[in-house]
Amino acid sequence: MSAGRYAPSPSGDLHVGNLRTAVLAWLFARSSGRDFLMRVDDLDRVREGAAERQLADLATLGLDWDGPVLWQSSRVDAHAQAVARLTDAGLTFECFCTRREVLEAPSAPHRPPGAYPGTCRDLTEAEREDRRRERPAAVRLRADVDSWTVRDELHGDVTADVDDLVLRRGDGVPAYNLTVVLDDAHQGVDQVVRGDDLLTSAPRQAYLATLLDLPVPSYAHVPLALNADGARLAKRDGAVTLTELRDAGVDVLAMIGGSLGFRGAGPQDWLDELDPEGLPREPWVVRPPALG
Ligand code: GLU
Repeated sequence: MSAGRYAPSPSGDLHVGNLRTAVLAWLFARSSGRDFLMRVDDLDRVREGAAERQLADLATLGLDWDGPVLWQSSRVDAHAQAVARLTDAGLTFECFCTRREVLEAPSAPHRPPGAYPGTCRDLTEAEREDRRRERPAAVRLRADVDSWTVRDELHGDVTADVDDLVLRRGDGVPAYNLTVVLDDAHQGVDQVVRGDDLLTSAPRQAYLATLLDLPVPSYAHVPLALNADGARLAKRDGAVTLTELRDAGVDVLAMIGGSLGFRGAGPQDWLDELDPEGLPREPWVVRPPALG
């Protein structure tokens, strides 16, 4: 099976930039004969009712998906097993650093700036015993590469730093970089289309997939929506959700289709028009109407 997917985090309503990314993910999948799957990444940042509204908005735009929605929270046992497997292989270590300590630590020699400096990598068992009394440990990957390369359909070869990334947070929640790899593979996703804020995360996810003997999907990272000031589009910018835009009299499909240079009326018509080569590579600047 081959499939594409959209995997929103249910932290609030989708804005028009998110909707456009979802449309592109659907078009890439459907136009290449793939299934299109929906996953709700509900391990973090969950707002009551948001997932249901996100799915309803996507359906309203004319997107459909195959099979039931996968709720990421149903997969925590599989996530824990993968951490255990990597640990058994000697590929993890417990980390007691706070976020602040990581940010403030001088970067280690031969490691890229901002990378985890290796503070807890080589603690002795006695030191770990001590530290466990202070706070619950996060689990990090013992990465044995500094960088990794993936191929992206829009960006070509992309190389980015890989450091000792977090696999399980101190509060026990499996980390995004792990769950995305495991859940995409579990769902048979072989095509990942998403916002280009995640472009530099793709190499570390591909590296992790390789360590876990999982196939690496193809990637297409599409431009984000920005406001007129060049910042990421956000709720405070005005009418940005499907409901708000419609209430303001905006034809949201026309807005999205126009931004992509499509002539047809909606996703079904755009299937024949999608040309990855011709897609804009620059951010989409949106000037939303004021909220009514
Ligand atoms: N839930 C993640 C997000 O919305 C998904 C990222 C991805 O597509 O890998 O940012």
